[in-house]
Amino acid sequence: MNTELLAELLFPQITKSVEDYESQYPPRNLPEGAKVTRFAPSPTGFVHFGGMYQVMIGERLAHQSGGVFYLRIEDTDAKREVEGAAQGVIKTLAHYGAEFDEGASIGEDGSIVSKGIYGPHKQSQRAEIYQTYAKKLVKEGKAYPVFTTAQELEEALAVDKKTENKTKDWSATAEETRKEMLANREITLEQVQAELAAGHPFVLRILSDGDGEKKVKVVDQIKGALELPENDEDFVLLKSDGIPTYHFAHAVDDHLMGTTHVIRGEEWLPSLPKHLQLFRYLGFRAPKYLHTAQVLRLDENGNKKKLSKRDMGAKMEDYDALGYPPVSVIEYLMTLLNSNYEEWHAANPTLPYTEFPVTIKKLSTSGCLFDFNKLDDVSKNVISRMTAEEVYAYVLAWAKEYDAPFAETLEAYKDRAVAAFAIGRGGKKPRKDFATWAEAKKFISFFFPSYYTIEDEITGFAKEDIKAALTKFEATYSEADDSTAWFDKVKAIAEELGYCSNMKEYKANPDAYPGNVGDISTFIRVALTGRTNSPDLYTVMQILGREEALSRIHSYYEGL
Ligand code: GLU
Repeated sequence: MNTELLAELLFPQITKSVEDYESQYPPRNLPEGAKVTRFAPSPTGFVHFGGMYQVMIGERLAHQSGGVFYLRIEDTDAKREVEGAAQGVIKTLAHYGAEFDEGASIGEDGSIVSKGIYGPHKQSQRAEIYQTYAKKLVKEGKAYPVFTTAQELEEALAVDKKTENKTKDWSATAEETRKEMLANREITLEQVQAELAAGHPFVLRILSDGDGEKKVKVVDQIKGALELPENDEDFVLLKSDGIPTYHFAHAVDDHLMGTTHVIRGEEWLPSLPKHLQLFRYLGFRAPKYLHTAQVLRLDENGNKKKLSKRDMGAKMEDYDALGYPPVSVIEYLMTLLNSNYEEWHAANPTLPYTEFPVTIKKLSTSGCLFDFNKLDDVSKNVISRMTAEEVYAYVLAWAKEYDAPFAETLEAYKDRAVAAFAIGRGGKKPRKDFATWAEAKKFISFFFPSYYTIEDEITGFAKEDIKAALTKFEATYSEADDSTAWFDKVKAIAEELGYCSNMKEYKANPDAYPGNVGDISTFIRVALTGRTNSPDLYTVMQILGREEALSRIHSYYEGL
């Protein structure tokens, strides 16, 4: 077979050579050890938490080594593409502070443009590049066309990431497939000419030299040394529309864009022999691979399950709706990346996470467990270090997006809200009341007249007892008291009513009293806040102001 001629017949429109592209995209001039990584999502809808995990690894490894982190949009599967998804991905990542040095970004007119000299970074705009490399493989006898019928064409077009990715099953019917594959290789130039003349489309397949019985040795940076079966399948390089499969695009793009470390999900591991074969066929140096473990969650029965699309927390946008500050999610991801992050952070509480040296060795090999409780702990810490003004600004921004009436209230009562958020803030042991902005709303909502309602009941006391205590409190309250004077008055009321004002004594002999000073506080607390749990009452009253505080107390006992 004259493969030169075959290449011309199949790709007459390709006039450039691979050398043209090699000089257009020269090797990067980076310091020794600098890593070039990328995030390469398919624009199918949203950023998965597992994707964000990969982003963090890529971003950290690149930037802490003085390298480059870039974004590539893998839109070779038009059928799965969702309108506007690429823009959505970029916005979400920006929201989480993922800084790309190069790659796909949003242009002034809202379309996807490329930053840096290695673009375009949208695969659908790179067809000519892939075809140039494909033409070279044909010339070298390493790839061949298979012409398709209408039905086959449909099937070929349906080849998507999911199916591309499966390992081939050679058993039973597979024998047939194999025979067919070998027969397809025998196509002659005359047949090719006739098919082309009839206007039939073709897919381009690799001519595999692999033996499925043999193993290829490879070292994955996360999983360690592996032996995988060689690829013996003539897999598709270009689909009949001239658009590459993931495999082919991966090899061409990561080579031309100078990727040193490919960080991707472990579901790609079975395809690795295909990729190594392709890099070898194309004469490229293969990058290092990091196949990341899946993100898992515990189900109701305590079994580990994959964190799937439908699970809360699977989509990055879930965290916005729930009201987690992006930095909380990032800090949490850091704890998942490297288990020593927490210890480091405790020792260096004021340093940004970017100062922590992420190590590949400490990445999970088998699966990292996603846990909302852990995220909440991290987030409470993050929020406890913010100033009241910062918290106010974040809660307001969140409410504007997800809770308009609350946003209006926050704006109308700005000083009150800031004062409420200031409770227990600062100092060595700041309060850690909420992990999300939605919880922050719950925490302070009773301060605002339109949200104040009686949520909790006082149990174990007669209405008259409660009323008697609150009437006395109302009569003695003075806004000028400091907190000691305030509490002394509460104690005095307790004593006047025969309640025990000393907790130790009360505990020693509870039956001797109708109640204790803490019960009096509970009456005041429920009347003022509607809840049995609240921040410091003295402060709450100062923030509400005399008039509103007393009017709440008054209407509470009147309403009993
Ligand atoms: N587009 C591929 C995916 O979404 C990316 C895999 C890779 O990073 O190479 O799974």
